[in-house]
Amino acid sequence: MKAPRRIDVMRPWFTAAEAEAVRRVLESGWVAQGPETARFEEAFALTVQADHAVATSSCTAALHLALVVAGVGPGDEVIVPSFSFVATANAPCYVGAAPVFAEVELETGNLTAASVDAVASARTAAVIAVDQGGMPVDLEPLRRWCDRRGVVLIEDAACGIGSTYRGRPVGVGADISVWSFHPRKVITTGEGGMLTTNNPAWAQRAARLREHAMSVSAAERHEQLVPAAESYLEVGFNYRMTDLQATVGRVQLDKLPAILARRRELAARYTTALAGLPGLVPVTEPENARSNFQSYWVRLGAEYPLDRDATLDLLGQRGVSARRGIMAAHLHPAHATRRRAPLPVTELLTSSSLILPLHHTLSADAQARVIEALVEGAS
Ligand SMILES: *Cc1c(COP(=O)(O)O)cnc(C)c1O
Repeated sequence: MKAPRRIDVMRPWFTAAEAEAVRRVLESGWVAQGPETARFEEAFALTVQADHAVATSSCTAALHLALVVAGVGPGDEVIVPSFSFVATANAPCYVGAAPVFAEVELETGNLTAASVDAVASARTAAVIAVDQGGMPVDLEPLRRWCDRRGVVLIEDAACGIGSTYRGRPVGVGADISVWSFHPRKVITTGEGGMLTTNNPAWAQRAARLREHAMSVSAAERHEQLVPAAESYLEVGFNYRMTDLQATVGRVQLDKLPAILARRRELAARYTTALAGLPGLVPVTEPENARSNFQSYWVRLGAEYPLDRDATLDLLGQRGVSARRGIMAAHLHPAHATRRRAPLPVTELLTSSSLILPLHHTLSADAQARVIEALVEGAS
C-alpha cells in the first residue's frame, strides 16, 4: 500500500449516516432551527448531565449569551486564561466587561483557584474556566472560590465533550457551560455550539436571545396555521443553529463513545512511545479526570535538540501536519494591553508546545510516522 502523502492534524469522522440525516431534513422542507435542533438539545443535555441545553451558531455565541444571562456587563471584570483560543478573551468584551488574564498550571494548561485569586478584584463578576484541549480543569477549588465571593462560574468546555472530572462529564460543576462543534473539536456540525445550565430562567432567556428575543419561536409559529403574533422582548441576536447542522450533531453524538475510545487509544500510544525522548513532555491527565484528548500536545524542554518551530519544520518535511500549541491571547494585538501580572507559564507553554495529529481515522501506520519523526528530531 502506498503511504498517504500527508497526515492531517485533525479530521472529522463522517460516514453515510450524516449524509442520510441531512437528506431527510432537506426533504422535510424545514432547514432552519426546528425539531431536529430540539432533539439534538435533548440528547446533548442527557450526555453532559445538564437540565437544559440551548443550541447556538457557535461556542463563541454561547459564551456571549452566557455572560448576558449571568448579568455580566460594563464595569465588570471576567477572569479568563490568556492561554486559550481567543474567543474566551473576546466574549467579556462583547458585553462591555474586561477580560482579566490569570495564569495556568504547567501540566494541564488550566486555571487554578490560586491563579484566579491572584488577579481578582472587587469588580470580578465571573470566571471563565477552560478545559484546555479537552483536559478537565480542576473545578472544585474554583467552585468554592466563586461561591465564597458570589462570582459566576462559566466553563468553556468548547473542547471538552466526553471528558470527565471526578467521574462526571466536565461542565456539570459550573453555573453555565458552553461547547463547540467546530470541525477542530471532537464532534462537529460544521459550525455550532451549545449552552448548558441547570438554571431554567437563564436557559429560557438564552434560548430567546439567540432568536432575536422573540416571544414565540419561528418553529412554533411554523406549526400553527394561524400564527400567534410574536413580540420582541429585548434586543436579541441571531445565534441559531440550523436543523441541517443539528441532525449532523445527533449522528455525531451517537458516535461519541467510539470516537472517545479511539482517541484515548491513540493518546495512550503516543504517551508510551514518546516517554523516553529527552525533553519532550506530553500533557498529563490529573488523577481525578479523564481527557477526550481533543488536542494531544507536548511541550519541548531544553533537552530536546530542536525547538518547537524547528520540530514543526521537521514534521512538515516528513509529511506530518502538526500545529503550534494553544495561543496566548495577551500576545496578540487584540488583547496586548490587558496583561495585569506576568504570565510566565502561559508564555512558556505557548512558545514551546505543539499539537500532534490525533483523530478518529488516524491509522496506526500514520501515527507511527509521527512518532518516528519525533524520535528522529531527538537524535
Ligand atoms: C474552539 C474554541 C472556542 C470557539 O468555538 P467556536 O464554536 O468556533 O466559536 C472557544 N473556546 C475554546 C477554548 C475553544 O477551543
